[in-house]
Amino acid sequence: MIKREDFDQVMVPNYAPSHVIPVKGQGSLLWDQTGKEYVDFGGGIAVNSLGHAHPSLQKALADQAQQLWHVSNLYTNEAALKLAKLLTAKTFADRVFFCNSGAEANEAALKLARKYGRDQYNEKKTQIIAFENGFHGRTLFTVSVGGQPKYSKDFAPLPTDITHLPFNNIKTLEDAISDETCAVILEPIQGEGGVNNADPEFLKAARKLCDKHGALLIFDEVQTGVGRTGTLYAYQQSGVTPDILTSAKGLGGGFPIGAMLTTSAIAASLSVGTHGTTYGGNLLACAVASTVIEIVDQPATYANVAARRQQMEQSLQQINEKYKCFTNFTGKGLLLGAQLAESWHGKASEIWKAAVNEGVMILVAGPNVLRFAPALNIPEHIVSKGMESLERAIESV
Ligand SMILES: *Cc1c(COP(=O)(O)O)cnc(C)c1O
Repeated sequence: MIKREDFDQVMVPNYAPSHVIPVKGQGSLLWDQTGKEYVDFGGGIAVNSLGHAHPSLQKALADQAQQLWHVSNLYTNEAALKLAKLLTAKTFADRVFFCNSGAEANEAALKLARKYGRDQYNEKKTQIIAFENGFHGRTLFTVSVGGQPKYSKDFAPLPTDITHLPFNNIKTLEDAISDETCAVILEPIQGEGGVNNADPEFLKAARKLCDKHGALLIFDEVQTGVGRTGTLYAYQQSGVTPDILTSAKGLGGGFPIGAMLTTSAIAASLSVGTHGTTYGGNLLACAVASTVIEIVDQPATYANVAARRQQMEQSLQQINEKYKCFTNFTGKGLLLGAQLAESWHGKASEIWKAAVNEGVMILVAGPNVLRFAPALNIPEHIVSKGMESLERAIESV
């Protein structure tokens, strides 16, 4: 039998997984090797947007698997074009580039912004403005653009002309942006960096300043996208439309896929041969993702997102009354951050471990924030069950 100890024998030690090995999932429940049951409030880090083993996703995958899996980009394919039509019909975008992950979607966005700056303006238009505590992936370019130096410093020399500014600070953005800026990249809600909401005024100011200086506004919606905040993409509630949007995580509901969305005018800079990836547009990934979008983008899903958000906040508030562990709740929809009170600072991962023992899987976002990103269709009674387990975990800590 495979054991957790095997991990330490055969895997690169860049992760420190739990001792629990899940073997089966159904909806928002998971079971480990011993048959113990867990409520899944993490959703594989905001990935399993419709829970585990959703029958429509199983069918989409199985049907496509019978037909054709992969053809490369020497050929186009029906599954990729169907998904691209869905995404462009439902967003500001006219064009889509498919890849396999969030990092790759952002890599494409950043490369496109640099190239577009050169094509439309001049060689000097290369500055990328990003924000402290932002997270954009782990390729060398995206990790350098991310605003957590601990993730990039050991890999220097890093790509240059990247400026990091405090999030939600209009003044410092005003001061830093210039005609040499090719892009401003941000998450509408910083996920990994602590579940920090962008102020609506900050987004509006970023849009204005980008327009003034001919810079592209990139929204990294890898975590906030695909219904998580109560609309298909978070920008649709903000009144601010980006020039480029990146999507991944929830897009495949558990099957790896990423996408970069943009307008025709901007997309034109990625002309034939300028960028690519072998698996981009893979038929299995695209068939599943189209089904995810069709199911997620329905009023019933968004109603559940709103109702479960309210329920989770209420339960956490009740826990808070007993243990005084939280200061406030951040995020939107089913991306929920519970900010730990000062006396609980540093305890997020201890709570995570205790929660697993009590039968509920949560996420953290740094040492001081519990993060919840359950399936968008998680039922009320499963939320109640998970919250009871979480309360026991917090009591034990
Ligand atoms: C997870 C995440 C990424 C990276 O996605 P990968 O699929 O891990 O490469 C990028 N941006 C945001 C906002 C994310 O949450």
